[in-house]
Amino acid sequence: MVKQTIQIFSRIKPSKKTTAVYSVDNDEPTGAFLEFLVPRDQAEGFVNNKRECYKFRFLKVFDQAVKQEEIFTHIAKPVADSVLAGYNGTIFAYGQTGSGKTFTITGGAERYSDRGIIPRTLSYLFQRFSQDSSMIYTTHISYLEIYNEMGYDLLDSRHEASRLEDLPKVLIMEDPDQNIHLRNLSLQQSANEEEALNLLFLGDTNRMIAETPMNQASTRSHCIFTVHVCRREPGSATLRRSKLHLVDLAGSDRVSKTGLTGQLLTEAKYINLSLHYLEQVIIALSEKSRSHIPYRNSMLTSVLRDSLGGNCMTTMIATIAVDKRNLDESISTCRFAQRVALIKNEAMLNEELDPALLIARLKREIQSLKEELAMLTGEQRDEQLTGEEIQRLEVLVKAFLEDPDPDVTLSMGPDMRKIQHCFSLLKIMIMGKQSAGNRHSDGEASPGNTVAVIQNSPCSAAEMTKLKEMMTQRDNEISILVKMLKREKKRFQDTGDQLANTPNGQSPASQSALRPAAGPPSREGSLDSIPANHGGQAIQMKKRDPQLSMGKQEAFETFMRDHEDRVTVEHNRELLKQRSAEARRIGEKLSEAKNRINELKKQLALQRRQRAALSVTENCPEVEAEVDPVEENLCKHIEQEKKFYKSSIGVLKALRTEIEHLQLLLERAKVKLQRDFHKWWGLEASSVQESEATAGGPAGSPHRTLQPPLPSPPALWALSTTKLSSSIPLTGDQQTDADILAFVQARQNLLNRTGQLQ
Ligand code: ADP
Ligand code: MG
Repeated sequence: MVKQTIQIFSRIKPSKKTTAVYSVDNDEPTGAFLEFLVPRDQAEGFVNNKRECYKFRFLKVFDQAVKQEEIFTHIAKPVADSVLAGYNGTIFAYGQTGSGKTFTITGGAERYSDRGIIPRTLSYLFQRFSQDSSMIYTTHISYLEIYNEMGYDLLDSRHEASRLEDLPKVLIMEDPDQNIHLRNLSLQQSANEEEALNLLFLGDTNRMIAETPMNQASTRSHCIFTVHVCRREPGSATLRRSKLHLVDLAGSDRVSKTGLTGQLLTEAKYINLSLHYLEQVIIALSEKSRSHIPYRNSMLTSVLRDSLGGNCMTTMIATIAVDKRNLDESISTCRFAQRVALIKNEAMLNEELDPALLIARLKREIQSLKEELAMLTGEQRDEQLTGEEIQRLEVLVKAFLEDPDPDVTLSMGPDMRKIQHCFSLLKIMIMGKQSAGNRHSDGEASPGNTVAVIQNSPCSAAEMTKLKEMMTQRDNEISILVKMLKREKKRFQDTGDQLANTPNGQSPASQSALRPAAGPPSREGSLDSIPANHGGQAIQMKKRDPQLSMGKQEAFETFMRDHEDRVTVEHNRELLKQRSAEARRIGEKLSEAKNRINELKKQLALQRRQRAALSVTENCPEVEAEVDPVEENLCKHIEQEKKFYKSSIGVLKALRTEIEHLQLLLERAKVKLQRDFHKWWGLEASSVQESEATAGGPAGSPHRTLQPPLPSPPALWALSTTKLSSSIPLTGDQQTDADILAFVQARQNLLNRTGQLQ
């Protein structure tokens, strides 16, 4: 941040009159002085017995002979440099009509050397842009005219066809951060000096066209030419934006001449009201104690808010016409400048991040990091963890928590997604434990308050809802299972009767095997028909699917037992087993044949070596040429073994194809079984709900849809490959009733738990 007072300069317009009443002292080390000497006999409005000498300090006073070039170098160039660095800048000319404001800011129209600050600054800026290839610069121009408190866009193309008053007004908008925005003021991009100069020319022309003898716009309006510069390093998302306001103010002429009222200069009033407000703002800013600055009083002060006491480096040029008759105006201008010099500004670098560029850069960064990660870990990663990964993590976390070893670590590899998921799993578990603990201790302290405590605790309430839902599900499960048990019981009785009535003693197992597609289970068929150990291939249920309730597992097993595809599945599985054994056997034979061939090859090589040695030692080379029967025999053997080997490979290949096919069939059957089971379970559940609803059903649950959590395919398949005999040996009424009792007991437990919570 750069803290700096507004820099004030003074420029004296060339005058042909020789009776100069001022003196300039630029040699002072603390600045320059402009002094007015008012002769005692001054008859044009000054009271004789008042002061004769008025001395004002400026940073520099540019006397009549000073050329435009020097003005630019001393005043505008430093400001342009700070704009290039990213600070806001303002140069404004203040003075009475005809004192040279427009000449200084824009320039004279006659000679090239008369070009003012605007064209020279544009030229300088574009020259600097082209010299600095390390940055990308973009420039926009706006040109605002404020006349009678109304703002007009001098670059509006409709200007040529309209009167000033008919043009859309530029409106001041203020955002919540008190930043000023000008609506209806166009920002025209200019790629080079020529385009920018064209815009200046266009604006000035529009200004001239709009002027009529009635509105006297040129002397009574303020013109603000703004260059908006945006600077960015290629590839960087950081932008530096800066604005340079070049302001040609309305004439600071006053209405009343002091001489007429007999009073001194302070009494004079501005012709232009907005200059009065400008002065108010400047007075307020120069008084340290003032907290409120009346920027909003006029459009000019609103637009120049940053330039006055804000984020800007500001320079004022007091233009002075030193003719004797203008003395009072000149002194007023200088007094105004002295106040302005007291204002402190705080210019900041206007750096900001371009969100679009930033996003693009971050995206690129993420991509390259992903690639780097994939290279390091050797695996591609998606944004989300897969279902399998999540399951694995759950198992890991559970094992970690259950391990009594204090040194046990939870290791899931260098993957932030997994680490975060494990943390959230742990958090859920801890929170669950805490809420359970809280309930426990609260219950001990004051059992009467339990309900209130639970109701106030979102965690407990959530758990209660969960328990209620679980209870509803279990209710449904119990109903389904009770229904199933009753059916089984009936079937068992029927089978008994049937057996008694079967003359040839055909076994129910064969009946079951011959049964056509049976659809949902238990409608027919026999539990007894399932052998306890199906050909010795049954796989004992080793693990329970955590996602299935006990009841549902039992149901699934029964469902499996009675499913239409069961026979086919069993047959295929048996076939698979046979084929696998066969393949193993052939594989073993193959490796034996290979060993034999290797052995024969060794013998053959030995035989050949011996024969070669013999021919050398006995010096009869013909021995080697003779046909050796041993060698011949060995070759024949090898040939035979090779044939066997080749044919075995063919058989093995065919077997492998069959095995793969069988595996595929089993896989399909697995999926179908799961789907059928869920369909059937859903149907059963809704029929239970319907019957409960008509019968008044369990409180609070009759219409809830049963949505059992879908077991993951591998988990369910583990069940499907379990022994087909039910783990509930339903052998009679007694057992059936015992099972019903067990379910009812389980339900009661659940009810008790929920009752405690309520
Ligand atoms: P203002 O804008 O303050 O009313 P102008 O800039 O229009 O005054 O100046 C009035 C006249 O004086 C114009 O004709 C202008 O060319 C001339 N003039 C002003 N300052 C100078 C100067 N430094 N050198 C030469 N001519 C000047
Ligand atoms: Mg002017």
